[in-house]
Amino acid sequence: MLRLEFEGHEHTNRVKINGQTIGYLPSQTWADMWMSAALPVPADLLRVGYNELSIEAGRVIPDCQVPGNAWDELLFRHVRLERVPTPTPQMPTPVSGGRTMTITVVFDNNAYRPELETAWGFAAVVQRGGQAILFDTGADGRMLLANMAALGFAPADLDVIVLSHEHADHTGGLEAVLKQNPNVTVYLPQAFSTRLKERVVVGARLVEVSGPVEIASGLWSTGPMGDSIIEQGLVVQTASGLTLLTGCAHPGIVAMVRRAREVGKGEMDLVLGGFHLAGASKSTLEGIMADFRELGVARVAPCHCTGEQAITAFAAAYGAQYTRCGVGLVIQRERSIR
Ligand SMILES: [Zn+2]
Ligand SMILES: [Zn+2]
Repeated sequence: MLRLEFEGHEHTNRVKINGQTIGYLPSQTWADMWMSAALPVPADLLRVGYNELSIEAGRVIPDCQVPGNAWDELLFRHVRLERVPTPTPQMPTPVSGGRTMTITVVFDNNAYRPELETAWGFAAVVQRGGQAILFDTGADGRMLLANMAALGFAPADLDVIVLSHEHADHTGGLEAVLKQNPNVTVYLPQAFSTRLKERVVVGARLVEVSGPVEIASGLWSTGPMGDSIIEQGLVVQTASGLTLLTGCAHPGIVAMVRRAREVGKGEMDLVLGGFHLAGASKSTLEGIMADFRELGVARVAPCHCTGEQAITAFAAAYGAQYTRCGVGLVIQRERSIR
């Protein structure tokens, strides 16, 4: 891990190394002062020899940026790339003995453990060996952090945050988590708003997902899906097959399962999260059950926006393979070592 340090004099935001965004600088209103920032630079982005650093200007400042003259006042000094003495790996190698994959639902509108707080939204923590991934962040930072603490997680434990889609009940807790631990990599669909990318993801490494991507060995994003509400799911390989986590499944739960099978190249074990079927007709639900069977989905744990009727239908269709899902649910699987 290297650290990029510099002082700037201007409205700026996106910082790229060799064409890859490494983060955003804090915005400030025009002021005659130097501000300094430091961003972590993943070593794997750097080439031997020549590297390209680019810093994009932010909003136009009327009194000093006019068309054709936009860069005149953009000043930087002390731009330096520095090796950080104690390297922090982005994704630690799984520790030996960590043979399980654990999913803990840390935010949901359904109760599971009554002492935890519930509110509309969804978030879950996936742990494998030494890695911890937060999938979505619920609607409220305070509540997310309180539930996480009650379930034994600190923001500092997190290595990666994956955001499914840009609805406030999935992104609302992000800022609170990043304030406590900016040393994470945030994976979000490229279609997310600039506002969220610039203002919220400050200091963290940002990865804009434009297609299926392996985040770590045996852990993938489905890639952004859907036409109107763009959403990604998280696929985890286990010894029992693939697990798919969904935020709201706006692109369609069946389409997301199909994509998960393609991306993870395996059989579906479990689908957990919001299935977005509130108000679905009986025949729609029957069709979805049939598709799930055909796609070989062994177990289901629907929650968040699935809808009461759909949850009841899944419970009836899956019997013992249905898991009631809500905040505090913990699911464990044997890890598969590739
Ligand atoms: Zn949604
Ligand atoms: Zn939602």
